[in-house]
Amino acid sequence: MEIKEVLKKMTLLEKIRLCVGKNFWQTKGCPEYDIPELFMCDGPTGLRKQEISQGVDMLGINNSIPATCFPASVTTSNTWDKDLLYKIGEAIGEEALDQKVGMVLGPGINIKRNPLCGRNFEYFSEDPVLTGKLASQYVKGMQEKGVACSLKHFACNSQELDRFTSDGVVDERTLREIYLKAFEIVVKQAKPQTIMSAYPKINGVHCSDDKKLLTDILRDEWGFDGMVVTDWGGMSNRIEAFKAGNDLAMPGDSDYMEKDIIDAVNNGLLNEEDIDRCLERIIKLALEKAELLKKDYLADYQKHHKLAVEVASKGAVLLKNDNNLLPLNEKDNILFVSNMFENARYQGAGSSHVNPKNLVQPKDCFKDYDYLEICDSNGVANEEQLEQLSDKASKADVVVVFAGLPASYESEGFDRDNMLMPDGHIKMIETAAKANRNVVVVLQNGAAVECDFADDVSSIIYMGLAGEGVGEAAYNVLFGKVNPSGKLSESWPYHYDDVVSSDIYCKTKDALYMEGIYVGYRYYDKADVSIRYPFGYGLSYTSFKFDDFKVNNNLVTVKITNTGKYDGEEVVQLYIGQDKPIIHRPIKELKDFEKVFLKKGDSKTITFKLQDDYFTLWNDGFKKIKGNYHILVGSSSQNIIFDEVIAVDGETIEAASWQKDSWYEKCIGKPNQEDFEKMLGRKYEAPRLIKGQFTMENTVEEMKDYSIVMKMFYKGVEKTIAKGFGGKIDYNNPEFKMFMKASAGSPLRSMKISSGIKGGLFEGLLAMANGQYIKGIIKMIKG
Ligand code: BGC
Repeated sequence: MEIKEVLKKMTLLEKIRLCVGKNFWQTKGCPEYDIPELFMCDGPTGLRKQEISQGVDMLGINNSIPATCFPASVTTSNTWDKDLLYKIGEAIGEEALDQKVGMVLGPGINIKRNPLCGRNFEYFSEDPVLTGKLASQYVKGMQEKGVACSLKHFACNSQELDRFTSDGVVDERTLREIYLKAFEIVVKQAKPQTIMSAYPKINGVHCSDDKKLLTDILRDEWGFDGMVVTDWGGMSNRIEAFKAGNDLAMPGDSDYMEKDIIDAVNNGLLNEEDIDRCLERIIKLALEKAELLKKDYLADYQKHHKLAVEVASKGAVLLKNDNNLLPLNEKDNILFVSNMFENARYQGAGSSHVNPKNLVQPKDCFKDYDYLEICDSNGVANEEQLEQLSDKASKADVVVVFAGLPASYESEGFDRDNMLMPDGHIKMIETAAKANRNVVVVLQNGAAVECDFADDVSSIIYMGLAGEGVGEAAYNVLFGKVNPSGKLSESWPYHYDDVVSSDIYCKTKDALYMEGIYVGYRYYDKADVSIRYPFGYGLSYTSFKFDDFKVNNNLVTVKITNTGKYDGEEVVQLYIGQDKPIIHRPIKELKDFEKVFLKKGDSKTITFKLQDDYFTLWNDGFKKIKGNYHILVGSSSQNIIFDEVIAVDGETIEAASWQKDSWYEKCIGKPNQEDFEKMLGRKYEAPRLIKGQFTMENTVEEMKDYSIVMKMFYKGVEKTIAKGFGGKIDYNNPEFKMFMKASAGSPLRSMKISSGIKGGLFEGLLAMANGQYIKGIIKMIKG
């Protein structure tokens, strides 16, 4: 089909409507012009395909068709294994073919700016290079099967607080080096067919309307030639979004701004060609996927389950193993403890929630062992249980405690309050440790937690959110069937206060990226803040020796030998840092890594090629900077084994005048607004809520304190949502909280889009919130 010819036959209204979805998960087709529908569904942990007729949502509440639930990205990224990520992408792609899905919404590659982000479990890392390289493999694997990935959320979506409306205030260098970098890597290396624009604003402009982001950077600079879809309900100003190249608005079927767009075209404020360009990209993708899905495909779910187990086993990070307590002996008298042993926390809550095809709980895999259920699903333990634990633990050879974060502690839709595990979990660990010297803690959580208990126990193994094979994976690592080789893809500080952004993160609606490029290890290194478990860290049951390190003609080589008693895998990490830089820089940054499998006694030489862009920084463009650089190789960001300095040619650029004596030079203490504004080149003013000036951009939640109409509306939404929860208004229930945030906590425009309610209801309510009651009623009636 010649798409351009078809477009010539369409009316303007037809075109505008085809750029909005048909329903929650499909684009609109048009039989008259042979345009097929395109079915998409959530990833990235597995497929969340919902039957349209059976209840749909963007929060993972209604059921979906069973699919393999792979470990969440918190665990897949801890593998540091590019091949495994490729295989996961392939497997989810095969299941998409099986379930007739042409496009998968994921992977999510936002940077883990702060450990409290509710959605960190779904993202890869604090480091853009690790994120970019791993996510590229996932995308390649899936697209190799013909299924389109939608890389999300572009960009700066590193907090859940007010995610629909908050403004990310961030300087250009930080954007380019940290928050856009992973997207740049994936777009260039893996060519994802689609990208999802994020909900929030960046420097005052909504991502959906951001021409600089979606066209100048994404398409013109990076060469992206696919389709851009909004996040669900994330369309801001449809006119600007057409100009910006945000092609598709999801979900459907809403008439949001339809009339305004027609007026804008008629008044010359929007070119019809802008709409054509967007529609062309949508139709092209729909045609390609319709062709692909004509053939039936049968995915091998059993094979995928095995892959899920392999990933979970290899993504387990051994944080501590005193006296080589692990691996355990199957003949030992082992006591397993905690509710999480039979109700593992194996995936995150929200849109990535999968209905697992074949869930195997830890309890199913350790049937011959003693088990004591302690703590309820919210992590509360009672005294009686703890006394029982003390008694039983003293009689066992080893006590294995499953602990971590219950589902109510971390979820899409809201951020965590602190980095603590529930009190009951801590008490459980402490009680076991008092009664027995051999305590192993198996952690199940989607992001870093404070581990004050670490000194009291022998071993800690971190499984993240391990997917449907969580039980088998726990068995594999505890008994040494698989030697854990995971490395942390995020730093674990001692306490939340040690985090660079702890004073500012989610303290205000807007996200002020005051710490600039100093995220994660880039900060801890420079500020010399000691942390519990560094980025890139993870032990093994065996040991490795690094030698024969050479830097020669842009090639870095190093020999790794497995010197221990088990076969195992090690991750060789290459970092680079400029010596005495003129423009402030992190001490070192990850540039490449390689995971090596070695049988005991075996050796292998790894080679890294130094690329020009390893020496660049952003200064009105990425510029290679002349200077001496440390070429660093090690097994974690804090276990650097070799360090050689080489001279590199490039540009010499003077530092900006604001840099001298600013926080960014040494990163001592916490960043401050004064230095931040100097770096930013402007003053920041917090938005103010003024009755009479509310717009479709405001949320019911924020207007309810100023308007009786909005208060009543809020109560109505609350009641309606409570109906789905047995009539209970319960903000302690994460699903209830998430629903409230996604409705009353989203701007009126998003409510209008996501509800699909046509006409003037929301515009009328808005007028009333502004005190214009008659105008409001007329809008409602007219609409
Ligand atoms: C999430 C996306 C998701 C979409 C559809 C949104 O709320 O942010 O990641 O793909 O819903 O469920």
